[in-house]
Amino acid sequence: MINPILTVANVRLIEQQVNKILNSKSLSKDPEILSAVKGIAVAELKEKLPVATEEILRAVTQISDRTDAELFIESLKIYTIPFKAISEKGLQKLFRKDKKLKLPKLETIDWHGISYLSWADQGTHRQYIVIEKDGTFIALRGISQPQYYTKGICAICNQHGPVHLFTATVKGNEDRYTSYSNYICDDPEKCNAHVTDYKVLEDFVTRNLV
Ligand SMILES: [Zn+2]
Repeated sequence: MINPILTVANVRLIEQQVNKILNSKSLSKDPEILSAVKGIAVAELKEKLPVATEEILRAVTQISDRTDAELFIESLKIYTIPFKAISEKGLQKLFRKDKKLKLPKLETIDWHGISYLSWADQGTHRQYIVIEKDGTFIALRGISQPQYYTKGICAICNQHGPVHLFTATVKGNEDRYTSYSNYICDDPEKCNAHVTDYKVLEDFVTRNLV
């Protein structure tokens, strides 16, 4: 039996290192440079991903082209812990204050490909984000302001790209409300593909809940 040991973010980190190797390969034919880049990639994986087996590390250094890389990443699926499945009922419970909660199409979601679940209600501009922490779901709701679409660094995946302002309002002491605004990727699917550090995502969500 295979034991899933990698989170989705772990797989994205491996993918990121593989891409670094392939990019350097396309830029230089010098075997010494390539071998140095491979060394750095493996060192980074060892440091950030102690669960990576020797087999995975070796495979990373042996990838020769994009097709190879795709097959390798695909092969990691059996070692991947998918996002904890959640039902429509479960989502309604998480956002029970939203009387007319618009729900995402759960049947279309690749649970092996997301670190967080996110969807938006175009009518109300509400954006919903759900992550999992220690077996339970944490729910975050904010307003996505369409007038603030721009390009910048995403607070969740740290990549540069099309982003928009996400504002969460939280109730503090004495019924005082505080708003937190962050730029996040417009496309949650692309964003998920770049989440290599779950901690950054987790911090983003919990920071906005405080
Ligand atoms: Zn992002």
